[in-house]
Amino acid sequence: MNSRTHSDRRLELISAARYFYQQGWMVGTAGNLSVRLPDGSFWITASGRCKGELTTSDFVRIYPDGRVEKAADNSRPSAETAIHQVIYNLFPQANSCYHVHSVEANLVSRFCSGDSLTLPPLEMLKGLGVWEENPNCVMPVFNNYLQVQRIADEIQQRFSINPPQVPALLIRDHGVTVWAPSATDARNYVELVEYIFRYMVAAYRVGII
Ligand SMILES: [Zn+2]
Repeated sequence: MNSRTHSDRRLELISAARYFYQQGWMVGTAGNLSVRLPDGSFWITASGRCKGELTTSDFVRIYPDGRVEKAADNSRPSAETAIHQVIYNLFPQANSCYHVHSVEANLVSRFCSGDSLTLPPLEMLKGLGVWEENPNCVMPVFNNYLQVQRIADEIQQRFSINPPQVPALLIRDHGVTVWAPSATDARNYVELVEYIFRYMVAAYRVGII
């Protein structure tokens, strides 16, 4: 890989972050996006940056051995880097991991008290790889802990035994994380899950769920 290619991959994240920010899903520096490179390292958004105004210096590169390469001296990796590391370790086909904090993700995470959110059997599920008629599909829900490593450990433990039906997970009162083979797919997945969450909030208002 050369530096030009690395730069190109960061541009995909910058574009997605700007779009998510405009949707209100990454306000107040919230959320984090990453893309994995062929050598196994990944670029992730630096901590505390406005997601609507990212530049290529607002990223940190994490290597499989844990080594950190900063794009700028004052960069720190996202506080939630451990979750991205766990996702990449669990799913070798995942090359991008996107995490956003939307209002709807937080509302629907309270629609269930257990560890799985039942999803409505919407056509949109096909975009997440669920090709069944009237699918009986759930999204895994994890508790939010101050120690991010604890969330990451629970994801690792549960998914090692029970792989999820969809490439997405919710952290209660926090946000949603998706992973995909490419940055383009990850952007689509965020749009799809956010559509499903908006539908669920609307369906709750009219009393059909
Ligand atoms: Zn978060």
